[in-house]
Amino acid sequence: MIKDLFSQVKDQIEKARKTVVGSADMIKLVAVSKQQPDDKITEALATGHRLFGENRVQEATMRWQARKNEFTDLTLHLIGPLQSNKVSDAVALFDVIETIDRPKIAVALAKEMAKQDKYLPCFIQVNTGDEPQKSGISPQETLSFVNHCQSELGLNIIGLMCIPPQSEEPAMHFALLKKLAKQAGLPHLSMGMSADFEQAIAFGADYVRVGSALFGERLPRINNDDA
Ligand SMILES: *Cc1c(COP(=O)(O)O)cnc(C)c1O
Repeated sequence: MIKDLFSQVKDQIEKARKTVVGSADMIKLVAVSKQQPDDKITEALATGHRLFGENRVQEATMRWQARKNEFTDLTLHLIGPLQSNKVSDAVALFDVIETIDRPKIAVALAKEMAKQDKYLPCFIQVNTGDEPQKSGISPQETLSFVNHCQSELGLNIIGLMCIPPQSEEPAMHFALLKKLAKQAGLPHLSMGMSADFEQAIAFGADYVRVGSALFGERLPRINNDDA
């Protein structure tokens, strides 16, 4: 039952939060609903949960556009890489953009937010492992990039986000993200997924992005061209 999984994960989050000295008053659970069947989304909403994350704009639009009218208190986070041609749809649909990962997309978002007069809070995605295939700003460039986004583009940057390399212990990456956020003067940290959200909370995460621990295994994607 989705309901039981949600209360289990929420209990684990609260337990982890309590054991951390100086932890955030509240940890936000971003329920990652990508590639999940509709009945599970309905069940999740029935528990009262309203904060969800999606990594593809088109898929998210199909899943959430109609529900946004029904549930006016929904909060949707974009947690996947954004293509330039989807910026307009993304700004229209989402409430928070977690994945500003390159200068070009920062410029495009700033322009589009001005156009729609909708200034969304954003996170900068940091490639903490400096992995060539992974999106994100390299750690060495993060401080100047945050500054550029804030003072030149006028973006509302509220925190940093990372996805640690799969083959490594996440602790070093969580610690690095925390250090960078502190240096940049940013209050929020989005880190930790199903396998490691408790550990992320120990390192100061106040947003965790949890999918399979809440919904079970994801369905395979039907097509791959919507990023
Ligand atoms: C899919 C995804 C998640 C959730 O992953 P789980 O391991 O299922 O919890 C979290 N963050 C991002 C960026 C994702 O793409």
